[in-house]
Amino acid sequence: MRIGFGYDSHRLAEGRRLIIGGVQIPFEKGLAGHSDADVLCHAITDAIIGALGLGDIGKHFPDSDPQWKDAVSTELLKYILELVRMNGYSVAWVDTTIIAERPKIAPFIDAIRESLSGTGIPPGNINIKAKTNEGMGFIGRGEGIAAYAVCLLEKI
Ligand code: MG
Repeated sequence: MRIGFGYDSHRLAEGRRLIIGGVQIPFEKGLAGHSDADVLCHAITDAIIGALGLGDIGKHFPDSDPQWKDAVSTELLKYILELVRMNGYSVAWVDTTIIAERPKIAPFIDAIRESLSGTGIPPGNINIKAKTNEGMGFIGRGEGIAAYAVCLLEKI
């Protein structure tokens, strides 16, 4: 078995869509980034890459590469899940925490799990938690959103 850990954060900016786990969440701002800035997908992707021992998300999808401009992050996650299979592993479990002061993410958790099932992580193999940062720091000031993920890979 292999475990992996991932963290990501993105700035909130005007004129961007807020995409979390492949779900568009209605809000006055969105996350800024080279890709769609899907902070949850990036944390999960990095956790899985970590468990595979294959570096990090920036190594596989460099933001200097125009190929990944406005990339749909669920597609990046799909690609990494293909690497999981090619390396002879399966995703046994993923646990995640999204930290956002606003908007409330909890009402969208079921939709996010459903969306992520399209990447190849079954809804029964992933847990998603959402919390605020109690008004503290960059998240508390509404400057950005962060996500943490851990995963367990099992050798098939
Ligand atoms: Mg990111």
